[in-house]
Amino acid sequence: MLFSEEEIPVSKIRYPKVLWSEKILSQSHILNLLNKIAQEGRFPHCSLISGPPGSGQLLIGLHLAQLLLCKEEDKPCGTCASCYKVIHMIHPDLNYSFPTIGSGSLCTDHYQEFRNSVIKNPYMNIQNWLKVADAENKQANITAKEAKSIIERMSFKPFESNCNVMLIWLPEYLGKESNILLKLLEEPPTNSYLILLSEDSKSLLATVKSRAQEYLLRPVETNDIEEYLKQNFNVAESKASEYALVCEGNVSLSIQWVEEEGIKHMELIKQMFRASYIVDPLNYLDWIDKIILLTRDEMKQYFQFLNSVLELCLKAPYSQPNQSSNELLDYSRKISTKINHESIEKIVILIEECIFGIQRNANIRILLLDFLIKLSAILRKS
Ligand SMILES: [Zn+2]
Repeated sequence: MLFSEEEIPVSKIRYPKVLWSEKILSQSHILNLLNKIAQEGRFPHCSLISGPPGSGQLLIGLHLAQLLLCKEEDKPCGTCASCYKVIHMIHPDLNYSFPTIGSGSLCTDHYQEFRNSVIKNPYMNIQNWLKVADAENKQANITAKEAKSIIERMSFKPFESNCNVMLIWLPEYLGKESNILLKLLEEPPTNSYLILLSEDSKSLLATVKSRAQEYLLRPVETNDIEEYLKQNFNVAESKASEYALVCEGNVSLSIQWVEEEGIKHMELIKQMFRASYIVDPLNYLDWIDKIILLTRDEMKQYFQFLNSVLELCLKAPYSQPNQSSNELLDYSRKISTKINHESIEKIVILIEECIFGIQRNANIRILLLDFLIKLSAILRKS
């Protein structure tokens, strides 16, 4: 007998079935296509999975890795040793590249933290990732040194499977260093797959985009986000529906709100409208003092959130009166009776200017005061 009864060959060990695809929300159109071409062996050697922030780029990349590295007929089986290792992100033929801090930084030195963060939250965004590195306000990059390491890692022979898979998360952070990768993107080594996972494919160099087959993700549907939040977090149903409504299909953002114990922005928005509506300078200053305490990213989020509230105001007159009720919907219905469409459009432009100013490191106090004065003027004419 080749094996004793207790001894089962490693290749025959079966693990409980776990698939990355089970966590993917709202992308069945693209999943069906990717599954089909991968199963037919036609998956491109250089691909670009792109979509709006928080639509699940990392999950699609990990699902593709499971699909390409699985050794069973029915891929991905979710139970073989390869699938198990991809689920735990420890497959030796699965490589990662992602933004880091500092010009000498290499991703292989940060695999452990990256693995832990993605497994904890596969919808993590760049802010979540930088928080892990305690570098929230620092500039992240995929460095020249890392780009060279990508080429090196892709040149290795696969250790355990028939191919090498490289996931490059947020390739937009490569900037001009993408040039180092052009030859690799043009002619990846046989049996290797380079998968770029982008949240902003417009900012990639044309020379990069032209070399990769692009697949587009959609914003995640509101119902799917609401269900996901209810199932994965200890969050009340009405809150889950609020976050899902205003996150614009961005699952990362909705999770962030859940983890930060709700939309602290809501109180700030109410205060802002109250102060601007009656032109109350003391309340202006109090609001500014509170906004100043936020990080720049949180300020941007606040204004993006305000944008979503205004969008709800625009929809409010057409919503069914019996539609489910929550604090946010009720509030948007209330202000929609006080602000007309034209004013909302003007406020949206003001918000864009404000976000732009924040990104450009403008003097925040002056920026916010200017915003409030202009907002008051619009509201009083409305
Ligand atoms: Zn498998």
